[in-house]
Amino acid sequence: MSTAAFQPLLPGSDVTLGMLGGGQLGRMFVHAAQAMGFTTAVLDPAADSPAGLVSERHLCAAWDDAAALDEMAGIATAVSLEFENVPAAALEALQGRCRLAPGAEAVAIAQDRIREKELFARCARQASGVPPAPYMAIASEADLAAVPPTLLPGVLKAARLGYDGKGQARVRGRAELAAAWEALGRVPCVLEQMLPLAAECSIIIARGADGQCVHLPVQRNTHRDGILAISEIYEGNVPQPLAQQALAATKEIAQTLDYVGVLCVEFFILDDDTLVVNEMAPRPHNSGHYSIDACDVSQFELQVRTLAGLPLPQPRQHSAAVMLNLLGDLWFDAAGQPCTPPWAQVLALPGAHLHLYGKTEARRGRKMGHITFTGDSAPQVRAQALRAAQMLGIAPF
Ligand code: ATP
Ligand code: MG
Repeated sequence: MSTAAFQPLLPGSDVTLGMLGGGQLGRMFVHAAQAMGFTTAVLDPAADSPAGLVSERHLCAAWDDAAALDEMAGIATAVSLEFENVPAAALEALQGRCRLAPGAEAVAIAQDRIREKELFARCARQASGVPPAPYMAIASEADLAAVPPTLLPGVLKAARLGYDGKGQARVRGRAELAAAWEALGRVPCVLEQMLPLAAECSIIIARGADGQCVHLPVQRNTHRDGILAISEIYEGNVPQPLAQQALAATKEIAQTLDYVGVLCVEFFILDDDTLVVNEMAPRPHNSGHYSIDACDVSQFELQVRTLAGLPLPQPRQHSAAVMLNLLGDLWFDAAGQPCTPPWAQVLALPGAHLHLYGKTEARRGRKMGHITFTGDSAPQVRAQALRAAQMLGIAPF
């Protein structure tokens, strides 16, 4: 991707912005694009995809459907994505025919944990000083045999197609490691050392084609069963020096990739107060959903602006925020019977902003929506979010 500034695409219904992927991130992008007056086109194979349901155009086709990709290239002036596992061939089919942000190369690296870790290690040496977890790529029996004892206990992660903790296994020793690699189908993996986490955080930046970079405040994240459960965003959520280091590392990664678009980088804070870089998402991120309600520019508006080459003012957080993810589990009662969560009770709490993604079928572990609490102070938003958690049956934090 060249660093030449994009010609701005001025808001108006004659400009169509394309979105690869019809999930909730695509849906919130569509909402932001439509609010600014753009027309949207979503490509997703599911007839009832959350983004397809709200977009003016829904190209309901497989990722490798040449006719649908041609149609997208014909109607969209610029295309972004909400799902980094879009096949490379789909991006190649669009490249050169419409503006693509982020570019295919950055997406290819984010699709492959081995290349991603190499990038992080390079950035750490270059400038950021924030390394990835100690790791080793595993592609053969010989690699397994060569695993040093320092990487165990560890986490074995498939190099491709993992999300929400899927495609990963925690392994205590060599026997478990071998069994886990077998269970993952002997695909290329990375084995990471299991680290003593004190906390987790993430940074979201938006970078324009001219290299200008703005960022959202650091998010403090709690994961449960490998899935993001809670994000807390207020003054003092993460020690200031660590937040600054995480931001600098994120900018270094974006600059190295000559990245255009919204980028999220996840970090571990270890129990000795050092920072480790975990992974990146070449798109808006679940931990940034609070920005819709707590910031003057949301991560989705930033995605629209970077794609359209529009100005990028530095976002300002106007309210303290806590976001709770709403997983499909909440749609089942104690007896395992389908139920509707107590929305009326939850919405009576001050500062509640409910976002449901339009998914018709609730399944355990499936992200159905999120709720953000905004308020004047950390204790206030935490108190309301904890009350909501109790009403919904989410464990306290
Ligand atoms: P997503 O894409 O939804 O963020 P993912 O499936 O790509 O998830 P990771 O971010 O690699 O998964 O890991 C999920 C969670 O598992 C992390 O947020 C962290 O809580 C835990 N975890 C992952 N790697 C390690 C590690 N090396 N040491 C300790 N905990 C880890
Ligand atoms: Mg992750």
